[in-house]
Amino acid sequence: MNPVTPAPGRDRLRIAIQKSGRLAEPARALLASCGLSWRESRDRLFCYGESLPIDLLLVRDDDIPGLIADGVCDLGIVGRNVLAEQDLAGRADTDGPRFRELRPLGFGGCRLAIAVPDAWQWREPSQLAGTRIATSYPQLLSQWLQGQGIAAQVVLLSGSVEIAPRLGQADAICDLVSSGATLAANQLKPVQTLLDSEAVLAGPAVDFDDVRAELMELLLRRLDGALRIRRSKLLMFQASRELLPTLLPLLPDAEEPTVMRIDGAERLALQALCHGALTWQRLEELKRAGARGLMVLPVEGLLA
Ligand code: ATP
Ligand code: ZN
Repeated sequence: MNPVTPAPGRDRLRIAIQKSGRLAEPARALLASCGLSWRESRDRLFCYGESLPIDLLLVRDDDIPGLIADGVCDLGIVGRNVLAEQDLAGRADTDGPRFRELRPLGFGGCRLAIAVPDAWQWREPSQLAGTRIATSYPQLLSQWLQGQGIAAQVVLLSGSVEIAPRLGQADAICDLVSSGATLAANQLKPVQTLLDSEAVLAGPAVDFDDVRAELMELLLRRLDGALRIRRSKLLMFQASRELLPTLLPLLPDAEEPTVMRIDGAERLALQALCHGALTWQRLEELKRAGARGLMVLPVEGLLA
């Protein structure tokens, strides 16, 4: 076959995203911010790409790595936790990886952690030896236990892992944590992080050799732009001129600020586009260093 001619049906890119759940809306919003739009089918499982030949398949998040590995979908948006677990599970049957993480996407943040009953005096991982640990992530947990040289029993549960200790099914758990509120409500405390996770764009382990390669390149370029804008904020503040040498190094990954004079020459109003994280801590440092009237504004668009 002529390598330039795409195989039938492979002249469009198909991205699997979660149908409903924590990642569903942010995934669609991110793709929409890359200029994609779709026409939805009546069953709401498939969205036909209108602005670009990029379609969506709406599925359960657990199915996404398999759909990519089988070539049913070309890309997917899924938690790193799901991707890593299924990657390890697949290693038993295949030689190399079947999919790879292409970009972290900055939402769906959580961590896979071991949690123990509040009453435990936690000192170190070796205390888990001989215990039963309930989890929906048996591969990641077993790998970590092995790495630590700890012999513990992995109890596989598909849901409601956090109630296992109260039901006497396990002594500890290994589960996803974000705020920690669910753990606290079950008298558990996180003691050890196994994996830091967030939503990621996943793709197959090998590159495309047809039109999809160009579509993916276009998508990644737009995605990188959209992610950069999301992280970027406009910071406005006032300060006296002599403080600038102390204040400017505190701006996270900032572009050259715009400086305006107020009150004669000594008092300045500044605005700076910051691409790094403007955390509360950073704002407080700026305030301590003499910045006044600090204001952080979101950026809707950037055209350099
Ligand atoms: P599905 O019906 O698609 O199987 P689900 O119940 O498995 O949905 P969600 O609860 O929507 O999935 O979680 C999807 C992803 O959101 C997780 O795999 C994880 O990456 C991320 N996430 C972020 N914070 C949390 C949290 N506190 N608990 C669980 N998942 C979280
Ligand atoms: Zn799921």
